[in-house]
Amino acid sequence: MTDFTYAVDADGVATLTWDVPGRSMNVMSQAGFAELDGLIDRALADGAVKGVILTSGKKDFAGGMDLNTIAKMKEDGGDNPAKSVFEGVMAIHGILRKIERAGMDPKSLKGGKPIVAALPGTALGIGFELPLACHRIIAADNPRAKIGLPEIMVGIFPGAGGTTRLVRKLGAMMAAPFLLEGKLSDPKGAKASGLIDEVVALDMLLARAKEWVLGAKEADLVKPWDARGYKMPGGTPYSPAGFMTFVGANAMVLGKTFGAYPAAKALLAAVYEGAMVPFDVALRIEARQFTSVLLNPSSTAMIRSLFINKEALEKGANRPAVADQKVKKVGVIGAGMMGAGIAYVSATAGIEVVLIDAAQEAADRGKSYSADLLDKGISRKKVTAAQKDETLARITATTDYAALAGCDLIVEAVFEDMRVKADVTAKVDAATGPNTIFASNTSTLPITELARASAHPDQFIGIHFFSPVDKMMLVEIIRGKATGDVAVAKALDYVRQIRKTPIVVNDARFFYANRCIIPYINEGIRMVAEGVEPALIENAAKLVGMPLGPLQLVDETSIDLGVKIARATKLAMGDDYPDGAVDAVLFAMADQGRLGKKSNAGFYAYDAGGKRTGLWDGLKTAYPVANAQPELIDVQHRLLMAQVLEAVRALEDGVLTDIREGDVGAILGWGFAPWSGGPFSWLDILGAGRAVEICDALTETHGARFTTPALLRDMAAKGETFYARFAAQKAA
Ligand code: NAD
Repeated sequence: MTDFTYAVDADGVATLTWDVPGRSMNVMSQAGFAELDGLIDRALADGAVKGVILTSGKKDFAGGMDLNTIAKMKEDGGDNPAKSVFEGVMAIHGILRKIERAGMDPKSLKGGKPIVAALPGTALGIGFELPLACHRIIAADNPRAKIGLPEIMVGIFPGAGGTTRLVRKLGAMMAAPFLLEGKLSDPKGAKASGLIDEVVALDMLLARAKEWVLGAKEADLVKPWDARGYKMPGGTPYSPAGFMTFVGANAMVLGKTFGAYPAAKALLAAVYEGAMVPFDVALRIEARQFTSVLLNPSSTAMIRSLFINKEALEKGANRPAVADQKVKKVGVIGAGMMGAGIAYVSATAGIEVVLIDAAQEAADRGKSYSADLLDKGISRKKVTAAQKDETLARITATTDYAALAGCDLIVEAVFEDMRVKADVTAKVDAATGPNTIFASNTSTLPITELARASAHPDQFIGIHFFSPVDKMMLVEIIRGKATGDVAVAKALDYVRQIRKTPIVVNDARFFYANRCIIPYINEGIRMVAEGVEPALIENAAKLVGMPLGPLQLVDETSIDLGVKIARATKLAMGDDYPDGAVDAVLFAMADQGRLGKKSNAGFYAYDAGGKRTGLWDGLKTAYPVANAQPELIDVQHRLLMAQVLEAVRALEDGVLTDIREGDVGAILGWGFAPWSGGPFSWLDILGAGRAVEICDALTETHGARFTTPALLRDMAAKGETFYARFAAQKAA
């Protein structure tokens, strides 16, 4: 079994076809590299070969590196993994550099053989770094193909020369969105930004590649950075123009990441230091920075949660083994903010939608939300007019429950009121067949209780979307006590159809995501009441990687919603209710009409256009800032532990049954410090022993809400991590 095939035609053009057996997408492994290396040697050594086409036997070129390869490099290093990783990366540089030099004399730059990358489709990560080392990149005109370097999205950066080559090719400024944000382009976009050289029709791809090889001149094979007199586009750091770029980029990245992401810092360092030295030295610098990132536990955790486990959940890791439950026709009841969004994501996934509201006007308004989003898509050239018409034609907006006949799934998103929901459940039961699955999008009402209104409680389930539905990638699926496996499979298959990421949790107050995020907001508000400087609270959160500080978050989600939730929770918990100090602040804000962003007044002040202008001055009048302020790290521990302990308790309670769902759900659901890989990954990085120390200290100073969970204490005693314990449990 080989990853590459090799053939030389009558004109002396060798075609190296990448086609990893048994996979739909090529990925690069250590064995693949070794094979490629050997075949490049063979082509360069064979006097009959004039040049090489590197292409793929699949519809795409390649999806990236096999992530196990990186893990293996670390393992192979024993007690010196850094050495092993660095050497492994340098070996990859060696192969790509050989392709780039293609046998030419390094002084005269003569005598090389042309090597062209011919990309039939998607080329990501190493799948684009490899072409970058070739002398020309030609892509098929395939608008679905994605080209780019998405490494930063999973906590690493392009480490097979992609960073160094792209910066030298485009200049630091133009390369920034591709390296720092992982921006991907279709082939035409990639050509326009200078990532690739040519776009041709798919059936012309290999012919054009061959034509280029046979026509290539010696100068066509010399990369600008290998040619004499090379100047980096936009300038190097100590040129007047480059200076502005590098200072600006540094500030921009730190402004966005608050320094919480090791990969972003290392990438910047590789670019900055690399720009000041010759190309081959820059590759060494890139390799060192890349090694430091790979050895940082953050990259392991991010790859695990954002790549491996996210994908496993999307593919149904926790799906009950029942027949395919693909949804053909969905009924959405309630065409408000959530229902309209649910109708849109369903229709764009090709599912027939019946969108019902109490009044025709409301149903129509819900449908017009889809029209507006599609129009936006058209103006951004992501959607065609024909696609818009097709999508809208799938949505029937009506008040008539009879239209629900034939729906295999119902998603209810009416008012958050037990009686209204029960009434809707009964009406739906009367209008649909015995096999229809009924899902509620409630955020706070127990699924088990809502199911009592159903004639088939085993077919009743929670499908909890986050707002805005079209943007938020997580969907929480809630199993009530009576919910059956078919309903769970239906919900999972539906979430897969609309291309979102599911987690499956058991029924309990606030399910999983809201259960963890509410204590975070509350801890922030509690600190305000204690006299902690509000800016310290907000910045502490951002410096530890939270996308929004707790005060900004409650402003965005609205303070009156917080009041509503607090009242309902207090009613349900009675004397056990712990958040009196928080409510005093929250209720006072609401009483003054400071409802958050929507009222242009909250913990923050806003200008007339709704833009935040800073923390509200009145806050310090009402809650004077104390003379003694806590250390930054203490504020961060409070803010993180408030969320994380709730996640651990959710696991102890059996609400979560899989820590992968806890980690993936936290990052996608409420943006929990992505650099950490999620709450359980963070605790693993910290170590259970240290986590217990922090909790014990917080409990002593701040009270029982930080009580160390028994599970964590047990793990600390045994020296366990969540991921090791979970893997052992699964294996058993
Ligand atoms: P909304 O007020 O915007 O929309 C509710 C819609 O339901 C309205 O259009 C209303 O006319 C319609 N409706 C009410 N009673 C009806 C009935 N008997 N029959 C048909 N239609 C009826 O509310 P929303 O924000 O879209 O929330 C809807 C549900 O989603 C609630 O259960 C809420 O808890 C949940 N939810 C909301 C969010 C959020 O961020 N807003 C997030 C997750 C879940």
